[in-house]
Amino acid sequence: MLAPDTLGPTLTLGEILVEIMATDPGHGFDRPLNLRGPFASGAPAIFIDQCARLGGQAAIVACVGDDDFGRLNTDRLAKDGADTSAIAISPDLPTGTAFVRYRPDGGRDFVFNIAKSAAGQIAMTPAAKALLAKAGHLHVMGSAFAIPHLWALLEEAIPAVKSRGGSLSLDPNLRKELMTPQTAARLAQVVAQCDLLLPSGPELQLAAGLPDVPEAEAVAALLTRVPEIVLKRGDQGATLFTAESRIDQPAFAVTEIDPTGAGDCFGGAYLTARRLGLPPAPCLQLAAPAGARNVTVLGPIAGATTLPAFDPLIASSTGHRT
Ligand code: ATP
Ligand code: MG
Repeated sequence: MLAPDTLGPTLTLGEILVEIMATDPGHGFDRPLNLRGPFASGAPAIFIDQCARLGGQAAIVACVGDDDFGRLNTDRLAKDGADTSAIAISPDLPTGTAFVRYRPDGGRDFVFNIAKSAAGQIAMTPAAKALLAKAGHLHVMGSAFAIPHLWALLEEAIPAVKSRGGSLSLDPNLRKELMTPQTAARLAQVVAQCDLLLPSGPELQLAAGLPDVPEAEAVAALLTRVPEIVLKRGDQGATLFTAESRIDQPAFAVTEIDPTGAGDCFGGAYLTARRLGLPPAPCLQLAAPAGARNVTVLGPIAGATTLPAFDPLIASSTGHRT
């Protein structure tokens, strides 16, 4: 069961970054490239910005540097209505960064600086504790497992939110560059407690702890632990699985400009609509244009959407993919 918005804000803990992207597709960063950015980013920040823009209560525990990269993010989150009271400012370390380059096959290579940036300094400050005491839902991003000390914070935050009747969601959001020897065990521990799982592609099997099984087998195994699963399939749409039903939500046909953040916007929209009281089917119908709009806009957070911004997309002659 997802706790209603009235219980308290959706809270997430994790990295705030700027993203800097290579303008030309290719492999890696081993030579000089044309780059574009900085763009406000960080999976937890994108997610929480989308929650706020759809009118849900939304807050983030994070740490940025005392620099323009940090201010660019904090200003954006505040402008979009997220609670920024627990974004600490490190006096010593710069805001985290992610360099991304799209491969011609649609894959992505990243160079991250998270653990050794201000993002690695996330701590349970008094402001973070105050948010924890009133949160109605906790959203965990698997990418945040790569931040030292963050696991200890999650081990405090998960029972705190659950014990006041709050709910828990997980987006595994695994990046090959951010996998550590602990990732699988931590994923399993959060999966075992979560009310909503939002995997994408092979994260479904990894969340089930069954890396090589067909989709149906991974879903069946996960449904014994998680009541609600939404599998994201990029431009192929998304599928909701519960014990009682399966709903396939097609993707909207759009021109992809910058796909990073689609999953976070999709997840933020879905969760927020669920917490505001809508049943799963209309939530999927809101989440799909949130994900689709994000890929049409340069910059991960810049693609987060308010409700009216969906209208032209929904009304567009291109309509749904089939
Ligand atoms: P990321 O981790 O990069 O944020 P993800 O892998 O978690 O993304 P995706 O499956 O890429 O998530 O995207 C989430 C949703 O957004 C999809 O289910 C779909 O509804 C929408 N979406 C993503 N890419 C496209 C696209 N090219 N065209 C239309 N809709 C898209
Ligand atoms: Mg993702």
